[in-house]
Amino acid sequence: MRFLSHVLALFALAVFTAQPAVAQSILRDAETEAFLRDISAPLVEAAGLEPGNVDVVLINDPSINAFVAGGQAVYIHAGLIDAAESANEVQGVIAHELGHITGGHVIRIGEGYQTAGRISLLTMLAGIGAALAGAGEAALGIMAAGQQAAMGKFLAFSRTQEASADAAGAQYLSEAGITGRGSLEFFGKLLNQEFRRGIRQDDEAGFYRTHPLSGDRMAKLREVYTVDPAWDAPLDTDWERRFARIKAKLQGYVAKPEATLRDYPETDTSTPALLARAYAYHKQARIDRALEAADTLIAREPTDPYFLELKGQVLLESGRADQAIEPLRQATDLTRAEPLIASMLGHALIATEDKGNFEEAERVLRAAVGRDRYNPFAWYQLGVVYAARGDMARARLASAEQQVMSRQYPLALRSAQAAEAQLPYGSPDWLRAQDIAMEARAWMEQLCEMNRARCDTRRR
Ligand SMILES: [Zn+2]
Repeated sequence: MRFLSHVLALFALAVFTAQPAVAQSILRDAETEAFLRDISAPLVEAAGLEPGNVDVVLINDPSINAFVAGGQAVYIHAGLIDAAESANEVQGVIAHELGHITGGHVIRIGEGYQTAGRISLLTMLAGIGAALAGAGEAALGIMAAGQQAAMGKFLAFSRTQEASADAAGAQYLSEAGITGRGSLEFFGKLLNQEFRRGIRQDDEAGFYRTHPLSGDRMAKLREVYTVDPAWDAPLDTDWERRFARIKAKLQGYVAKPEATLRDYPETDTSTPALLARAYAYHKQARIDRALEAADTLIAREPTDPYFLELKGQVLLESGRADQAIEPLRQATDLTRAEPLIASMLGHALIATEDKGNFEEAERVLRAAVGRDRYNPFAWYQLGVVYAARGDMARARLASAEQQVMSRQYPLALRSAQAAEAQLPYGSPDWLRAQDIAMEARAWMEQLCEMNRARCDTRRR
């Protein structure tokens, strides 16, 4: 599980197409993504959406919220997973969010947009200005704050929209044969403010405000759910087992280690507890304890790729890249090169600084970005490998990929143009370099126009 701040790029389009945008980091973890994909698949299908086109994205934010943005994507805050007590509760939320997507609510948010849009764009431009001036980190901070302010104003669905998303969500759950109990329990807890004790004021703005809850809504949902044939359907034990794991893992990764060790004490030897503690120890730099937990898990289930991945991550991040390779290689094989795991293997191979490992690194990293382009870190690593073997054209192209994803447009433009000049004319890589240059230039021009600043990005 890792943080990736390239979320800015993922959401970039949303800013300019008048859709809600945020600039928080996303959490990417192979196991969590597979889980979210699997539990939402039957709902996506029931909604009549193309399964491959709907992403469920985990946002690194402790508040309890979920929203839709940028077309067919459902964003779930880490805080919501933490607050949910079952996979079924999360499914209730996803079904509702899908209802907003199919209802076209993303596009039709009307009032409040103007204000929100202005806040968003102005702070973003301030951020870009700072970024160009070289204050990268500060700029990201400014943008994040601005986007968040905008989102709060932006995302308050109307009561009509809520009612329609509720009805649609209930229908999808029903068609998928999934009980609405979790949905009712989760919304009920929110309505009864059970979650709101000790939550900061601005966090309260979460799900409760985004999706205005009311007793009426709950009553209506209850009415629909309880007569549904799926009401008494048992919970899927596999989904629930996996939920307990990813919930524990997530807490281990995002929460303070002390809190994790309190919630999952040593006396708890369950798999979720070991996962949570492994991350907590890792964060405390108690590497031996973290490895001990990982080894216990591997002994229980030697072919579980996520246990091997965990061990590899702990070793890699504690400076033992050479030892990390074997478990990561196994995890990569077991998942048929799941892109996030494969890119971690690539990272470990490069981190050994042994040139003998670079060929394998290139192979796994290329496979990783081939399946999932949105991994700026993998592109960065790939650039390192290319540069190491003197292929500067491809190194520049890899940099361009990474930079455009991180919204460093002037840099991306420069890298892409340098790559284009050196790559074989008309080759796929040459075309790609052109595409990136075009994309970077378009963004720069758009930003300039909005800023009403005089600038020329045609040639640099
Ligand atoms: Zn809603």
